[in-house]
Amino acid sequence: MNPPKHLYIGGKWYSGEGSERQMINPTNGCVFTEVREASKNQTGDAVRAARYAYNETTWRTDIKKRVNSLNKLADLLEEQTEQFAIAETTNTGKPIRESRLDISDSVSCLRYYANLVSNRKAWIKKMPDGTKSRVIEEPIGVCALIVPWNFPLLLGMWKIAPALAAGNTVVFKPSELTAITAIKFAELVDQCDIPPGVFNLVLGGGTPVGQALVKHPDVDKVSFTGGSDTGRKINEQCASSFKRVSLELGGKSPIIVLEDADIKAAVEWGIFGSFFNQGEVCVASSRLLIHKSIYQSFVEYFLEKLQRINVGNPLDEGTEIGPVISAGHREKIENYIEIGKSEGARLLYGGQRVGEKGYFLSPAVFTEVKQSMRIVQEEIFGPVVTIQTFRDDNEAIELANGTLYGLAAGVLSNDFERAERLASCLKAGTIWINSYHTPYVEAPWGGFKQSGIGRELGPQGLSGYTEVKHINLNNELKPVGWYK
Ligand code: NAD
Repeated sequence: MNPPKHLYIGGKWYSGEGSERQMINPTNGCVFTEVREASKNQTGDAVRAARYAYNETTWRTDIKKRVNSLNKLADLLEEQTEQFAIAETTNTGKPIRESRLDISDSVSCLRYYANLVSNRKAWIKKMPDGTKSRVIEEPIGVCALIVPWNFPLLLGMWKIAPALAAGNTVVFKPSELTAITAIKFAELVDQCDIPPGVFNLVLGGGTPVGQALVKHPDVDKVSFTGGSDTGRKINEQCASSFKRVSLELGGKSPIIVLEDADIKAAVEWGIFGSFFNQGEVCVASSRLLIHKSIYQSFVEYFLEKLQRINVGNPLDEGTEIGPVISAGHREKIENYIEIGKSEGARLLYGGQRVGEKGYFLSPAVFTEVKQSMRIVQEEIFGPVVTIQTFRDDNEAIELANGTLYGLAAGVLSNDFERAERLASCLKAGTIWINSYHTPYVEAPWGGFKQSGIGRELGPQGLSGYTEVKHINLNNELKPVGWYK
């Protein structure tokens, strides 16, 4: 039997010449399919195909073609929402209703950037000396797009849609753990009459494939989403050649609950913020900061609600928390739970394995934590939350800002002026007031401090894939008049 062809390079399908990788369903720990990953040479082939398409096709100049292609991709993806959602749930373990959201957000992202570039106008201005200045945005060139496993297709789309809309060509590398929806997406690209080499898919891990992309001299931009340690390495590697780079990294985001907040509503937002997608979310509200005066009632209701949460098969419609991504990741989370206990925090609830098969964990809650503890400072990236108290706004701000990260934060209160004042003091890229988690494709997303460099989504997300060029035009060629 011929090996399956899962790499999409220069408009053709290839079988990977790298390692063989089993795709595991985290719900039962069983292999559901296998993929053959790319070799270093094949990764180079993908970059060359992208370079050729960038230089030799009209993709970078033909906006109409790009807009039509992105809209066609959106239509095809929308038609297959359910198939994509089932594939995403099978590969990641996320509850099916969350996978459906991922797919519909991916569709919106494609349509948003198609619409944004079709309405983009050049900036033209008459200058004081009578010349005219025009500022245009040009594509950067070949972009390497590298994403993690927690939102495999959606985080890919946050890069693919703006990069292609701006006229770049791309090489996309999903996480080695979650390749399935990326392969399905390449099948849609194949149906869209997009010039060969504009979109390329390579599969594989950080080495050799991710590294080969980052270090390739013909890659003009690396757009990376993943852990801060990997991001640091990639940033250093890109710095030596001034390769353009944007980084969407980790977080340790707080929700601040003020004393006037409705307890039931605040508890629901707290649970949603902390345990959506099993807490495997970069902006997960893994730290809840509760005003001292409502702490007792908040924790009591939090526990009551948590005990009723439905941990189970993510393909069941009623499931609220699925398994975490892998056996290794579950061990990492369990290790953090042990660290929390050994640091003297109180494990109030959860953190237990659930069921015989798969990588399930009950949602864990720590109280009696100190700001300096590792479970407060480090990203666990799983269903673990810490609850702290504060006496006044200054203390809330100090605790909220007191980590190396700065991705997101939430404030729950009916005192909007006070909530806005707090928001202005929080060092984070996204602040939700009386809400949490929803990304808006029209608004930027990204991190302060060690949570990243650059922004995705919104017009800023498009700017991340353009170089700005200023053309100054003097209508008449006259001597400078500067020399005698
Ligand atoms: P990771 O850093 O291990 O891997 C991310 C991607 O980078 C994968 O595709 C991986 O194969 C690749 N990679 C690994 N080493 C590489 C290297 N040296 N060079 C090039 N590529 C390399 O992260 P992960 O475990 O897959 O994902 C979890 C992390 O992602 C968390 O820290 C989370 O906060 C972060 N994340 C951030 C955002 C955001 O928007 N800021 C969104 C989702 C996840």
